[in-house]
Amino acid sequence: MKVGNLVGLVGWRGMVGSVLMDRMQSEGDFALIEPVFFSTSNAGGAAPSWAKNETSLKDAFDIDALKKCDIIISAQGGDYTSEVFPKLRSGGWTGHWIDAASTLRMKDDAVIILDPVNLPVIQAALKNGGNNWIGGNCTVSCMLMGVGALYKAGLVEWMSTQTYQAASGGGAQHMRELLTQFGTLNAEVKALLDDPKSAILEIDRKIIAKQRALSATEMANFGVPLGGSLIPWIDKDLGLGKQSDEPGWGMSREEWKGMAETNKILGQGAAFGSAETPVDGFCVRVGAMRCHSQALTFKLKKNVPSADIEAMIAADNAWVKVVPNTREATIKDLTPVAVTGTLTIPVGRIRKLAMGPEYVGAFTVGDQLLWGAAEPLRRMLRILLQA
Ligand code: NAP
Repeated sequence: MKVGNLVGLVGWRGMVGSVLMDRMQSEGDFALIEPVFFSTSNAGGAAPSWAKNETSLKDAFDIDALKKCDIIISAQGGDYTSEVFPKLRSGGWTGHWIDAASTLRMKDDAVIILDPVNLPVIQAALKNGGNNWIGGNCTVSCMLMGVGALYKAGLVEWMSTQTYQAASGGGAQHMRELLTQFGTLNAEVKALLDDPKSAILEIDRKIIAKQRALSATEMANFGVPLGGSLIPWIDKDLGLGKQSDEPGWGMSREEWKGMAETNKILGQGAAFGSAETPVDGFCVRVGAMRCHSQALTFKLKKNVPSADIEAMIAADNAWVKVVPNTREATIKDLTPVAVTGTLTIPVGRIRKLAMGPEYVGAFTVGDQLLWGAAEPLRRMLRILLQA
């Protein structure tokens, strides 16, 4: 059945939402839809300049107004989804819900959308009347855009991932906090830095003293210093596993998503009548501004030459780029600074590991606000409009 083009947009001025609006304007998506802009905080305020017929913002909690939409795209957040989505569905709304929040991701009737990787899963759900389309965890989506080829070829026995996740993964306030901490630390030793003869150990002592003395306000978002440090825990403690020697014990929610979402995106696991691929590792917040990076270790099901692995990865989609495993290429092309603001997903450091010929290492970087958040949402909109 043809999907109508009245599209409600909620959460469009937040971090994910702004990147989404940018991309939709660049790709001409607004020419194909009649957008209706909603707000949780400013109903009645002026609609953005790119709105078409609407001049004012609608109330994002007005269920009747939302129900008029054929498609709703929300980048508002999990609390909003939890409050509004059940009311819409219980009120009989059968439109398409596209969401960046994690709330509905693992529900049986929801598909995690990442079409360059799982278009067949999306198409099968669409054929069966699916109407809940949820963007994946940013780190998982960026990883699969990079190395999805190895999964599609059925080569992966298991994968371990160690992540280096940017401050922006937590939202705008987290980015501000990191930069403010860097400024505070710099100010603490500015006079010593300006004097080339000053003692480095004195600088070091002053910095650690300042980091340890940051006030609660200066660490309001991360809870501990991130500037000049790192935090090896992201999101909640799931408390899975009853014993400390059981798998899953002491796992963070971000780490849990690695295996759960990778398999669901690929259409693997009990719900699909197949075995899951084990994925596990550690998720770490680092002082990068934007882009999530990750070091991957694969145990492959057989020995595949490195050149073949590189060729498979490079041919998988239009955005992945294999970076030669040289120092020069790596430091130039395989960093958050190189990737931020682009849709390119570089995969480098591809090499066989000392454990044996089936063990392969790789490193990948992705802009988590693009492939990890906004891009799959707008691409799902296009898929629906073409359905
Ligand atoms: P955010 O920047 O905090 O924006 C969420 C909402 O906060 C906005 O839509 C806006 O809603 C409201 N808001 C209040 N004050 C604001 C201000 N000064 N500027 C802009 N917006 C303001 O959150 P987000 O990082 O975009 O995340 C949205 C959802 O996407 C979350 O569920 C998150 O988990 C998910 N996600 C985030 C990322 C990421 O890397 N950040 C990646 C993947 C998924 P009103 O206009 O209605 O007031």
